[in-house]
Amino acid sequence: MVEVHFLGSGNAFCPTGRMHSLVLIDGGLLIDAPPTLLAQLRIAGISPDEIDTLLVTHWHGDHTFGFPFLLLERRYISDRDGEHTLDVHAHTGGEQRLSHLCDLAFPGSLSDVLAERVRFHEHSSGEIEGLVRVGGGWTYERYPVHHVPETDPHGYSLVHESGLVLLHCGDSGPCSEIERRSPDADVVIIELGIPDGVPSDFHYKPSTLTDLARACPETTFLATHLFTESGTESAGEVPSLPRNVIQVADGDRFLLEKSGATRISN
Ligand SMILES: [Zn+2]
Ligand SMILES: [Zn+2]
Repeated sequence: MVEVHFLGSGNAFCPTGRMHSLVLIDGGLLIDAPPTLLAQLRIAGISPDEIDTLLVTHWHGDHTFGFPFLLLERRYISDRDGEHTLDVHAHTGGEQRLSHLCDLAFPGSLSDVLAERVRFHEHSSGEIEGLVRVGGGWTYERYPVHHVPETDPHGYSLVHESGLVLLHCGDSGPCSEIERRSPDADVVIIELGIPDGVPSDFHYKPSTLTDLARACPETTFLATHLFTESGTESAGEVPSLPRNVIQVADGDRFLLEKSGATRISN
């Protein structure tokens, strides 16, 4: 059994009721590190030193600018004795990019943590260590997606030891990799970043996500990185999508099985 906890579900603009999109898997694996990461962990009652592994999808600020804050908190508060290591998986150049970001944010304060308590992995596939204590082991493959090219955009195909296949699409518009991989995935975490009518193909929109979900009727899609407001009386209309698409909210937790996703709380 796999648990997926959405600590945020908004796009880069943080629509009312949503913080930046952020997913925590099995209590220890984070995908991306948005600027509000620490606040999101606090709200969920998760200590930053419980994070074992970080997978980075691409170099946009709403996915990475929280990284220095995560290290700063661990260095001075939750892991001041240096007992925890963070494994960071990113595409080629990830160590250099994230180290530069830490130097911009807190000059001089994080160099020892980066050197001693962070392990960078820049290969394109591998095993994720350290999560066996919670939900079992994972392997992954990183794959290219269609988004702003300067951000080096990727998604992750995650395979759990139970056989469950969880596809994370990062930020992307329609592309052959997502279309090829989605039918074989049990659950797909996909962005729905812009409404129809915005002239960009770098994000999924209601119309294109509808087409994808209809082409993969056996797959459950969890839509996040949403452009819509949430939980307020003034919140706009929620797009009408096929039945195998669930639009998530901040705080949603799901149990994933090969048969799909069950919302267990919010
Ligand atoms: Zn984004
Ligand atoms: Zn992006």
